[in-house]
Amino acid sequence: MQKRTKILATVGPASDNVETLAALITAGVNVFRLNFSHGTHEYHAQVLSNIRAAMRKTGLIVGVMQDISGPKIRVGKLSEDFCLESGDRLDFYYEACIGEKVAPSHYRLSISESSVLRMLKVGDFVYLYDGLIRASIVEINDEYVQAMIENKGKLTSNKGINFPNTRLGIDILTEKDRLDIGWGVANGVDFMAISFVQNAQDMINAREVVHSYGGEVQLIAKIEKFDAVENIDEILRYSDGLMVARGDLGIEVPYYRVPTIQKMLIDKANAHSKPVITATQMLLSMTEKESATRAEISDVANAVLDGTDAVMLSEESAVGHNPVLVVETMVNTIQAIEEIYPYEKFDFGYDDVMDRVNESAVRLGDSLNAEGIIAMSASGASPKKLSRYRPKMTIYAATHEEKVARLLTIVWGVVPAYLIKKGRIEDMLTDIIQSGLKRGIIDKKNTYIFTAGYPIGTPGTTNIIRILRENEITFFGETKSQPGKAKKTDENAVATLF
Ligand code: ATP
Ligand code: MG
Ligand code: MG
Repeated sequence: MQKRTKILATVGPASDNVETLAALITAGVNVFRLNFSHGTHEYHAQVLSNIRAAMRKTGLIVGVMQDISGPKIRVGKLSEDFCLESGDRLDFYYEACIGEKVAPSHYRLSISESSVLRMLKVGDFVYLYDGLIRASIVEINDEYVQAMIENKGKLTSNKGINFPNTRLGIDILTEKDRLDIGWGVANGVDFMAISFVQNAQDMINAREVVHSYGGEVQLIAKIEKFDAVENIDEILRYSDGLMVARGDLGIEVPYYRVPTIQKMLIDKANAHSKPVITATQMLLSMTEKESATRAEISDVANAVLDGTDAVMLSEESAVGHNPVLVVETMVNTIQAIEEIYPYEKFDFGYDDVMDRVNESAVRLGDSLNAEGIIAMSASGASPKKLSRYRPKMTIYAATHEEKVARLLTIVWGVVPAYLIKKGRIEDMLTDIIQSGLKRGIIDKKNTYIFTAGYPIGTPGTTNIIRILRENEITFFGETKSQPGKAKKTDENAVATLF
């Protein structure tokens, strides 16, 4: 059984080897996330080469998302984990130091941006590790700022620290981020997630940096700032997708606003056919435990019902004790809730003519009880547009380049199933049908809708809708491909069937 909602998994020490990556792909991961807040370029280069090896091993393709850290402040290295209890003291030193326990219930440490400490006042709050631990400032002196813990929790090296009410600088791209973007372009990542976006200008700047390296990647805006929520319409216009980054978001805005904002962001992204990812703490307790809480399962299921394209795993797959089990749990949850999914959403306006063509294709397929829509696409735009209507039919994308197929790994309901050489429309269709029959994707007994833009090369012009029933499938299935005209599909490059 398939699932329509996609899964992103963060790679870390618990999952960075070829065997585990391959097992994760087979279990249902569609996109791997490399978090550039952790690990060196050498580390990520090794991970990337392992992901590519895992793709070859499984014969399935996945996308790669590079998460650009942005100006996140983090605690430094700790000599041991701090098991903090309410009432414990934490001394944040201005000078860099290795974090350590100095006395019972008393610790010292430093943070990556010590200048922020100078802006604090007694009574201010600081939040550690996605807001799990809260502390208030009780003393300020020449050497350190002392905070008192208000709720217990375990703090480990490099966890994030938030200071609500402090304004960020204007440029969210740090020097490190710019170098990391260069790395991403050079290494051919498919998506980049931009952290702490405040407005459209931040996305425009990020794209300029990508272009300055001669690259082209899909830019995902991580919505985790109060101002980003306010500026969402302009941000969306300049982004290829959104991430509901609930960790930092839940500190920037009151925690009880997060579900409302999640639904709003998903609705807006859906309306413009841009993929949206719901992230953070989805199955968090499985980082250490064998099973998720009922509340976590409901959270995943409800994000699916909200209309998210993808759900994401962070520490569950990066440092968790059983990443494959976490993915299996997510797949089971998605499949079960998709049984009652509100398919066939047609209440959108039209952004352009393509929307009318794609809506017609979905309506036609529905009325003919078609099994799938086979969408031929040079840029990937048409399968995204089709996905917006959340059809019951599977959307099989046929692209000319594997790079484009990988961009679709994140899009709800789209299976990037065919890699087809450019050619005459009849030859491409012959290729799709013969390869589909051979691989069991196409069944003669079923009906399919075929969409394409022809001639190839004018992006955004879907101008063909064709019905494929038994007669047509048999006809194309038996057509001899003409040497020199129809070139064979590269079957090894076929994508995930999830
Ligand atoms: P972000 O704000 O970008 O979400 P994060 O610190 O919360 O940053 P996640 O990727 O959400 O990071 O969670 C993964 C957790 O796994 C991190 O908190 C980190 O402690 C741990 N980890 C250790 N090594 C890695 C690695 N190489 N890649 C990703 N995470 C790692
Ligand atoms: Mg981050
Ligand atoms: Mg996180």
